[in-house]
Amino acid sequence: MRATCRLAPDGDMAVKRTGEEQRGAATASKCEYRLVAKKGEGTFSEVLKAQCIKNSKYVAIKCMKNHFDSLEQVNNLREIQALRRLSPHPNIVKLLEVLYDQPTGRLALVFELMDMNIYELIRGRRHYLGEERVKHYMWQLVKAMDHMHRNGIFHRDIKPENILIMDDCLKLADFGSCRGIYSAPPYTEYISTRWYRAPECLLTDGYYTYKMDMWGVGCVFFEIVSLFPLFPGTNELDQVQKIHNIVGTPPPELLDKMKKLGSHHLDLDFPPKEGSGIEKLIPHAPPDCVELICKLLAYNPDDRCAGRKAGSALRRALALLVSSI
Ligand code: ADP
Ligand code: MG
Repeated sequence: MRATCRLAPDGDMAVKRTGEEQRGAATASKCEYRLVAKKGEGTFSEVLKAQCIKNSKYVAIKCMKNHFDSLEQVNNLREIQALRRLSPHPNIVKLLEVLYDQPTGRLALVFELMDMNIYELIRGRRHYLGEERVKHYMWQLVKAMDHMHRNGIFHRDIKPENILIMDDCLKLADFGSCRGIYSAPPYTEYISTRWYRAPECLLTDGYYTYKMDMWGVGCVFFEIVSLFPLFPGTNELDQVQKIHNIVGTPPPELLDKMKKLGSHHLDLDFPPKEGSGIEKLIPHAPPDCVELICKLLAYNPDDRCAGRKAGSALRRALALLVSSI
């Protein structure tokens, strides 16, 4: 594909670059890109690899499927606000510029180009990734989470497809579902991809916190180590059952607490069950990795290892992991 990508032709229909004065915005004087290939597709967008005609650099352009009525609406988008607040950080994907064409309502976000996402990295792989590489990726992912949570944002859609890599470097992407940590639950919108959804998201009516991201990190960590998804539920009930099969049912007090927080579409009177455990599924994994995965997958969000405070248990645990490489 060698078409020239312009959100609008030169001249009368100018592409408005929003927030150039803000962090993370590009200073290029002309928004013209040559499309190279399709790079990915998500629920809300199509992502294209493109080359900036002016400086020959390659970028990823996330073309939003939704249309937007005004510049104000664009600037209020949580994804854009979060990226601006969190940039620059070595483990957060860099937003270069925002292209908005008011007459058509089309919006595209221009990002630094990464090689692939974590799902693509492990798909069809026959050999495990080296321990050092796994630990280095996880360390970077935790640094991104720590930075994000300390800046008052939680992601709500942690999964392999939303984590990008480029050689040894890992960056968190897709802030389209994020929320402010200090906003009050319940959160009523549909969130997070089922396989990576934390128990409190499945079992309550939106009473969850930033700790739900750490459950997703645990699932991704497991998947990078094992090369298969830990809880591939086919529907919500199956999702809960798959979690119980492996980590067991929670203590009755926790279930009682969750019962009070709604979600009566599921019967929470689960017969007590001991899980088969995570360790057996990844016998090749070093014990320190297994231990950390188990901490991230604590059923009770209050017990879950989180990286919000600097020097948190999670950061310390990971620092030890990395120093053991
Ligand atoms: P959505 O909000 O629609 O899910 P994402 O931001 O997750 O959109 O992007 C969809 C896919 O496009 C990602 O899973 C990834 O494969 C690819 N992608 C997104 N951003 C980049 C980038 N900066 N570099 C390379 N590929 C990207
Ligand atoms: Mg996505």
